[in-house]
Amino acid sequence: MPDTIPSLTDIPYRSQLHPDTIAFLQAQPKQLLIGGKWVPSASGQTFTTYEPSTGQPLAEVYEAQGEDVDRAVAAARAAFERWRKITPHQRERLLHKLADLIEQHTRELAEIETLDNGKPLTAARLVDVPSTVEMFRYYAGWPTKIEGGVKPVSVPNRLNYTLREPVGVVGAIIPWNFPLNMISWKLGPALAAGNCVVLKPAEQTSLSAVRFGELVCEAGFPAGVVNLVNGRGEVTGAALAAHTGVDKIAFTGSMEVGRLILSAAAGNLKRVSLELGGKSPFIIFDDADLRKAAVSAAGSIFGNAGQSCNAGSRLFVQRSAYDQVLDTVTARARAIKVGVGMDAATSMGPLTSLEQLQRINSYLESGRQAGASIRTGAGRPVGVPEGGYFVAPTIFENTREDMAIVREEIFGPVLVAAPFDTLEEVAQRANDTPYGLAAGVWTKDIGRAHKLAGMLQTGTVWVNCYSQFDPASPFGGYKQSGFGRDMGQEALELYTNVKSVWISVD
Ligand code: ADP
Repeated sequence: MPDTIPSLTDIPYRSQLHPDTIAFLQAQPKQLLIGGKWVPSASGQTFTTYEPSTGQPLAEVYEAQGEDVDRAVAAARAAFERWRKITPHQRERLLHKLADLIEQHTRELAEIETLDNGKPLTAARLVDVPSTVEMFRYYAGWPTKIEGGVKPVSVPNRLNYTLREPVGVVGAIIPWNFPLNMISWKLGPALAAGNCVVLKPAEQTSLSAVRFGELVCEAGFPAGVVNLVNGRGEVTGAALAAHTGVDKIAFTGSMEVGRLILSAAAGNLKRVSLELGGKSPFIIFDDADLRKAAVSAAGSIFGNAGQSCNAGSRLFVQRSAYDQVLDTVTARARAIKVGVGMDAATSMGPLTSLEQLQRINSYLESGRQAGASIRTGAGRPVGVPEGGYFVAPTIFENTREDMAIVREEIFGPVLVAAPFDTLEEVAQRANDTPYGLAAGVWTKDIGRAHKLAGMLQTGTVWVNCYSQFDPASPFGGYKQSGFGRDMGQEALELYTNVKSVWISVD
């Protein structure tokens, strides 16, 4: 272990950590899971993961290079031949067992997530881990229900039926904003459908994936069904995306990397599903419950420090209600207690990486330079630890549609707000973006709500609510926010091939 990592006794909040979390953190460098065995990378190469609340190194992790990815894919391929023969009922039981284990280890997983990602412990404990459990439980219900059909063909004396078969080996490449949730969004349907997986977590947040891998082993999944390759995107992720032994890549991340994945996948024409973020409009009409709408608007952009693909990052308020709504959103922004994730009083943690902090700061500068006015925030909050990656909740006004802060996904707690006059105008402005992930509409006029829901070019529209998720409801993008869906039966189908079988009954 490099001597740059502070010993556990130097890490703040150690007295609150669960003994299992301490034991987990003490065992370093973190290894790769290949074919059911925990192993170092072949090269011995490691990388460091940092604690965003302090900027201090947290753990060393072995980095999978091409050779390790080859071994992981080969292990998944070999396991697939056995795994596909396991009965749906057995798959169901294993997924339930895994969900139970995750639930039993909620405290520890939440602490690991908070230390590595920065999010408030209460959020990790009450939202991230329980919703991960629910996702696995939902998909545990599916193996016994995946079915084909008998087709009403017009060819005489022929019976035609379809089978839904697993695609084979799935490479899951996930981001750092909701690490455990993203694992469940990809691995839930992949495993339920009978696929084997090579999981590549984001290098900023590898630790909960390692603990998750341990629970997969404990649950009794056969060796090689789930493999874990940690490492940087351009090394490990790129090797996985291009690997000809992989049948499908399930990716969540940036639009830029989505493009790279798509071209890397072209080699063996593997299936790809991409969820690539957004610049989601949050639209409030003057007849809405303005307080509720404003509180939701603030929650949508400042929750998870704005590091959510569906963050309502563009707020449109009908002109007559604009001042009232902005006053409330601003008050909510100012009331947010920014601090270290492990502190129970914290309602917004740091950004997850130094790179992310620099990126947000450069957007703040770009907004200033372009002449937008700052309603609140745009600096470092007071009283946060030096070295942590903190930024205050920020609201920009008086923006123009051509500004980078209005057009690009910032992925931080930065809101751009603007008034609008008519439904047609706001629909046009809301759709004036290459993204199309989600949108919020607030109005008491049901006709207007339905009309706008139909006009918005987004994969999800929330009316008089926002950020509602459920394992049964598909989530994904229109336009350059990607294609394919996470969650629901829609996601499951993307992890299967349809086989059409013809039988002569002459
Ligand atoms: P973000 O901008 O949210 O960090 P990224 O798209 O950069 O999102 O990262 C999402 C995931 O994609 C991470 O696991 C990252 O390591 C991985 N990744 C980054 N670059 C590549 C690449 N060239 N090929 C494959 N995966 C990559």
